[in-house]
Amino acid sequence: MERRDFLKKAAVGAAAGTALTGCGSDASESGVPNVQARPTVRWRLASSFSRSLDTIYGVAEVMAERLRALTDDKFQIRTYPGGELVPALEVLESVQKGTVQIGHSASYYYIGKNPALAFDTTVPFGLTARQYNAWVYHGGGMDLLRPMFSDFNIINFPGGNTGMQMGGWFREPIDGLADLRGVRMRIPGQGGRVMDALGVTVQQIASSEIYPALERGTIDAVEWVGPYDDEKLGFHKIAQNYYYPGWWEPGPALTFYVNQDAWDALPVGYQQALEVACHEASALMLASYDAKNPAALSRLVAEGISLRPFSTDIMQAARTAATDLLAADADNDQYRTLYDAYEQWRISSYRWFSLAERSYAAFAYDNV
Ligand code: CA
Repeated sequence: MERRDFLKKAAVGAAAGTALTGCGSDASESGVPNVQARPTVRWRLASSFSRSLDTIYGVAEVMAERLRALTDDKFQIRTYPGGELVPALEVLESVQKGTVQIGHSASYYYIGKNPALAFDTTVPFGLTARQYNAWVYHGGGMDLLRPMFSDFNIINFPGGNTGMQMGGWFREPIDGLADLRGVRMRIPGQGGRVMDALGVTVQQIASSEIYPALERGTIDAVEWVGPYDDEKLGFHKIAQNYYYPGWWEPGPALTFYVNQDAWDALPVGYQQALEVACHEASALMLASYDAKNPAALSRLVAEGISLRPFSTDIMQAARTAATDLLAADADNDQYRTLYDAYEQWRISSYRWFSLAERSYAAFAYDNV
C-alpha cells in the first residue's frame, strides 16, 4: 500500500487499539491525566550475521537502541549474532516458531521453502536499492510481500540494504565463461542458482564460516557484499582477484522478521515505535555502506588486489540463465503475482534510470 495510506490506517489502528485494551490514561490525584501505563517488554533478536560486521549486523543494534529510546527504555531488544542463539541460516524458522520474537536476515537464504522469498531480497539483474525502496514503499511491493510472510506467521519490516555489491573474490582469474566451470563458490540465493547453471559448484555458507572454508581450500571463490565488509572478513588475504559487478545483487535488502503473535501482543504505541526504528535503521544502513566502501576499496587496492570486471560472455550468459530461471519458477500463484509485479516495476524503473541517472553517471564517473 502507499506509505501515506499505511500511516493513515496505522493511526486508525492505534485509536482502536487503545479503546479495545482499555488501558488508556486515568486521572492522578492532582487531576492531571497520567500517561498510559507502559509495560516493560524484553525481546531477543537473532541475526544471521557476524558481530564484527558493524554494517549488516550493526543495523539490528541501531534499531534496538532507537526503539529503547522511543519507549523510555521500556521496549528492550537484545541482539545476538548468527549462530549464538540459533543457526545463522535458520533465523526465519526460529521467528516462525517463536524461539525468538524477532530476527534479522536475508530472505533469499530461504528460497528452498518458497522461491518467491527472493523478491524480498533481490534477484539477479533485478532492482537497485533505490528502485527496490520505491517498489516497497510506493509501488505496492509491501502489499505483496506481507501475505508471503504471513504464511510463516511473520510480519516483515525493511531491515537495510547494502547497495550494489561486488562480484566476489576468486583465487584464480576468470577470463571468460569457460573458466567458471568447476569453480567452487560461496554464493546464496537465485544468484547461486544462476552460477550453478553456468557450471559453478555452489555453496551457501554463513558469514562466520566463509573465511575458514576459503582458507582450507574447500571453496575457490566467495562473494559477500563489498569492500568494507569483505575487508573485515579478510578474503583478500587468500584470493586476490576481486570481480565486479555483483550482477546477482544490484540492491539486496535485509529484513526484520517479527513473530506475528509477539507483534499482536504489543501495545499499539510499541508497534509504531518498532516500525519507525526499523525504517530508520534501514535507511542508515545503506548510508553506512556508501560512506565506508570508498575508503575500504582504496585500502584493498593499496594492498595489491586485482580489480577485474566480469567478461561480457559471463554477463550475457548470466542474464540469459537468470531470465529463464526466474520465469521457470512462476508455477505457483504467489510467485507468479510477485514475479509479474517485480518485473513490471523493473522494466519501468530501468527506463527511467537509463536516462538522466545513466547519462550523468557515464559522463561524471568517467571523468574523476
Ligand atoms: Ca552478496
